[in-house]
Amino acid sequence: MPRSDPSDSGPTFVGIRFCQECNNMLYPREDRESKILLYACRNCDFKQIAENNCVYVNKITHDIDEISRIVPEVVHDPTLPRTKDHPCPKCSHKEAVFFQGQSRRSDEDMKLYYVCTDTKCAHKWTE
Ligand SMILES: [Zn+2]
Ligand SMILES: [Zn+2]
Repeated sequence: MPRSDPSDSGPTFVGIRFCQECNNMLYPREDRESKILLYACRNCDFKQIAENNCVYVNKITHDIDEISRIVPEVVHDPTLPRTKDHPCPKCSHKEAVFFQGQSRRSDEDMKLYYVCTDTKCAHKWTE
């Protein structure tokens, strides 16, 4: 077995991590198919995704996902609050239902989502 040289750990090495299976040091490695940074053990098959990578990208995707999951039928939900202070940016209709996002990230502000109550428009937006 050739000894590993610290200089081959690569420029993306940001911290020492250890394999959960065999306690050997993990080495950063790019997964070429999914373009994510992994930490891989050279002793066994253990791999770990580097979770610090692409936090910003995840945040954007999360916002788009959340708004696309809102169904237009929420405007008929009598339990949701309505506002006349936030006119629809698309059709200028004066009433919208609003509710707080279901974000699971504690470090992210809970966003408010609005849905236009004009059923022909049903535009969804967030602020
Ligand atoms: Zn291992
Ligand atoms: Zn509208």
